[in-house]
Amino acid sequence: MDTALARAWVQAIAAAMDTHQDRLTRLDSAIGDADHGANMHRGFAAVAAALPQYEVATPGAVLVRTGSLLISVVGGASGPLYGSAFRALGTALDAGDDTADGPASTGGTARVAGALAAGLAGVRRLGAATEGDKTMIDAYAPALVAFRVSAEAGAGLAQAAAAAADAAEQGMRATTSMQARKGRASYLGARSIGHQDPGATSTALIFRALADTAAAAKDAR
Ligand code: ADP
Ligand code: MG
Repeated sequence: MDTALARAWVQAIAAAMDTHQDRLTRLDSAIGDADHGANMHRGFAAVAAALPQYEVATPGAVLVRTGSLLISVVGGASGPLYGSAFRALGTALDAGDDTADGPASTGGTARVAGALAAGLAGVRRLGAATEGDKTMIDAYAPALVAFRVSAEAGAGLAQAAAAAADAAEQGMRATTSMQARKGRASYLGARSIGHQDPGATSTALIFRALADTAAAAKDAR
């Protein structure tokens, strides 16, 4: 992942949060406080506005800056959680071994896999949720597994990200039958069953944005 791709990814996330804001809000109105669409839209709109003026030399710096902005701009649980994820992801991306593609593209698919793992670890550390708790983890964890399996089989970034996005969407749909054990939705107890988790839904959008961006970058080469 190079700096241009990191920039394109966060811009694609901003576009997706704009398109899907109402859907995320509807999901959060069923089992939360109806602000997830507004939170994600506000956060990534701020990122999209700030990044063009922000001079960065590495892809990791783009993602660290994204995380910092999300933490400062987004109220609610999702701001610090996604903020930590992007900060950890960016830090790991820049720190990783650069064995695959040389410094120009800062790393191959294995390196991105390591960075995505660091992002998930950031969410786990802060939110203390695990698989089955009906959170963003239920989309992120299977997406990471699919990305790794695909990367280990020799896939490029676009292909691994597409596999991750498919797995994230499957994980997102699987949250519907879960009872929430973390976050606001957990206050509803069994009444949270039967509704798709808003944070798992925004996570699936984030992975789909990566897949689309990586595919577009590959086509442009
Ligand atoms: P809030 O719940 O503060 O209103 P949002 O509505 O923006 O914040 O985000 C809600 C989403 O955050 C949930 O759908 C869930 O996916 C995610 N979430 C909440 N608590 C946790 C947690 N402890 N760990 C991981 N994700 C969480
Ligand atoms: Mg909410």
